[in-house]
Amino acid sequence: MPGPPSLSHRALALQPSLTLAISARAKALQQQGVDVCSLSAGEPDFGTPEFIVEATIQALRDGITRYGPAAGDPELRAAIAQKLSLENKIPTTADQVLVTNGGKQAIYNLFQVLLNPGDEVIIPAPYWLSYPEIVRLAGGKPVTVRSSASDGFGLDLNLIEQSITSATKVLVLNSPGNPTGRVLCLSELEALAELVRKHPNLMVMSDEIYEYLLEDGESHHSFAAVAPDLRERCFVVNGFAKGWAMTGWRLGYLSGDSTVIKAAAALQSQSTSNVCSFAQRGALAALQGSRDCVRAMAVSYNTRRAELCTGLQQMEGITLVPPRGAFYAFPRLPDAITDSLAFCERALEQEGLAIVPGGAFGDDRCVRLSCAVSRETISEGLSRFQRLLTSP
Ligand code: PLP
Repeated sequence: MPGPPSLSHRALALQPSLTLAISARAKALQQQGVDVCSLSAGEPDFGTPEFIVEATIQALRDGITRYGPAAGDPELRAAIAQKLSLENKIPTTADQVLVTNGGKQAIYNLFQVLLNPGDEVIIPAPYWLSYPEIVRLAGGKPVTVRSSASDGFGLDLNLIEQSITSATKVLVLNSPGNPTGRVLCLSELEALAELVRKHPNLMVMSDEIYEYLLEDGESHHSFAAVAPDLRERCFVVNGFAKGWAMTGWRLGYLSGDSTVIKAAAALQSQSTSNVCSFAQRGALAALQGSRDCVRAMAVSYNTRRAELCTGLQQMEGITLVPPRGAFYAFPRLPDAITDSLAFCERALEQEGLAIVPGGAFGDDRCVRLSCAVSRETISEGLSRFQRLLTSP
């Protein structure tokens, strides 16, 4: 065979996750002794709460180290179903829940079992960067619907409706959203539900992974709770990574129509099998425990998000739509800067500042900064960001 093995079209078309790549590059530079200030993280800076760790250690001691059912431990599926029923007001049974390797695999599995080649998925921009890639991997076509910082990143229902074609299968919702921190309020969800009602073949994927990370005065509403009549067409993606600081555990879930869940479980049984058995015990402990730890972390992000936003709002040329949830800010750069990737490369080279280009999220005029870092790092990051804006 001359040269290396040729890759599949699927692999050749794939864009690796830019956020993970930037975090990795920042860590590598740090290890080489470069003074890096990273606001690129997409993960909590807390350790996993101790009671969850303890439950997992106990599970290991109890020999919970074997294969389990591909769809997840029955106790955990039941606990997730109960959480969805009580907290999110979406009546759910255990057979409507699939435990996955993170929210990411929940999305991956869903699109794999729903989409045929050419099926379209509407993704309001700015969006979490993995959605379009996961849609493409399933043979689908991502259709992005723009919004901009100048109109508050509001969802434009007319634009969404105009994007619906006979090939449209799924509408993606993400609230609180990554990267903008946008939180969909009740009236927006109701208006969306009206739109979905008009299109009987349209399904909804609601990614609620940041549900607990909300500014004071905000509340989280699940689309499926707002529109009970649309429940069979609505799929919830969620996980333990952001709320409970469990990113490395790889624990998420998909919930919705049991036929789809069964198909997704079959897919999982032929790909990754069950999520790590003892880690699932940790997730069970998380759900059964008090939410105090989650609330305490959310309060801490709120303080730091406010500091990050105040700093950004004082900078000339920066437009910031104040984020209402999650742990990011997504400012629009001054008009003269039109290439977010080039700006972020310069940030890393010139100032040792790691931030994520908005282009990866569907808006090349913005960058994403995380507040899930220490207050000192936020303050230092803001100084470096300011210097970048004032130097050529
Ligand atoms: N959804 C959104 C909006 C995210 O930001 C992330 C992670 O950054 C995920 C889903 C996936 O989370 P995980 O696979 O770590 O559970």
